[in-house]
Amino acid sequence: NRIPAKGIAAMNNQGDFEIYDFDRHELGDTDILMEITYASICHSDIHHVKEEWGAEEYPMVPGHEMVGRVTKIGKNVTAFKVGDYAGVGCMINSCGTCKYCKAHMEQYCPKVVMTYHAHDPFHNNEITQGGYSSNMVVSQDFAIKIPKNAEMDKVAPLLCAGITTYSPINYVDVKKGDKVAVAGYGGLGHMAVQYMVARGANVTVFDITEEKRADALAMGAVKFVNVNNAEELKGLDNTMSFVISTIPANYDPNMYLKMLDLDGQFCIVGLPAMANMPVLSIDKFIWKGNRKVFGSQIGGIKETQEMVNYSVKHNIYPEVEKIPATPKAVEEAYENVLDGKVKFRYVIDMSTL
Ligand code: NDP
Ligand code: ZN
Repeated sequence: NRIPAKGIAAMNNQGDFEIYDFDRHELGDTDILMEITYASICHSDIHHVKEEWGAEEYPMVPGHEMVGRVTKIGKNVTAFKVGDYAGVGCMINSCGTCKYCKAHMEQYCPKVVMTYHAHDPFHNNEITQGGYSSNMVVSQDFAIKIPKNAEMDKVAPLLCAGITTYSPINYVDVKKGDKVAVAGYGGLGHMAVQYMVARGANVTVFDITEEKRADALAMGAVKFVNVNNAEELKGLDNTMSFVISTIPANYDPNMYLKMLDLDGQFCIVGLPAMANMPVLSIDKFIWKGNRKVFGSQIGGIKETQEMVNYSVKHNIYPEVEKIPATPKAVEEAYENVLDGKVKFRYVIDMSTL
């Protein structure tokens, strides 16, 4: 009773995509089956496809930001009914008993099952395949309820870009009037700006694409800094209470560390290619009393549900560009993400698959 699926798969690490027929594990008693309506493209998908974080297996159907309609439920499912809208992010299962799962931080569970490119220990170690596809089978505990009044074509990016920025902003508890910064104004970065503007913070944006200056200011940032312009970087040292970096390429993290005020915090969520990893040198921060650097990975399921509810309630959505579900459109989209041409997230209309 395996479930047939159709996807758009990377066939190799050159980023060549093809239509790919495969199947998913059968519907367990606590699983839901959803028909995917929209899936979006995260820069992590590109890192994976290009093997920038390590060896991968192909064909690979990427995609860890998706939304769709529930079409079938297992006999013990209580959280969803057929016809409900559900979202799935970066993970589809975990052990449920370790200290991380108990603390609602399933993303750090040693047995967490990532949505694609992972081997699923709960299903004979079979490889998982992601959201650029017709459907998804997921444990009800890892599906997010999407309110019926949500803008469905804009919801998918919340499931990774939204939670990955919402979670550390929540953790740091950014407040009204705080001087904060977002480094890397792309899919994640433009969500970080919106969440911090909504909290009343004074947000500075750092990016390399001049065309994004007007967008940042229109989104409520007080300042846009083109990091390629040395003049604009002057006078920022020791001014920020919080900086979040979403940069996916090599850069100098020490530059942002220097911008922290006393007790300031620098959160790094952008994860560049292994071969191009930025370096944070001990000699640059040992003397910077009480300033903190921390990393963060997505967010737990409970917080993801809270983030979706909050975003829909406050009308905070990504800016999206819709593309058809074809291998060619996905290939072009990947090029454009790398070239800084997308504002700000590509959403694949899976109904066109
Ligand atoms: P995007 O490509 O959408 O955004 C990245 C942004 O960073 C772009 O605006 C880009 O510029 C900008 N940028 C690139 N180089 C620099 C630089 N030197 N200085 C300032 N800005 C720069 O990527 P995403 O937002 O989708 O993902 C960002 C990173 O976060 C990726 O590495 C991804 O893998 C990681 N990630 C981490 C997660 C976690 O759990 N920690 C979860 C999800 C993603 P432009 O495009 O304008 O040229
Ligand atoms: Zn992602």
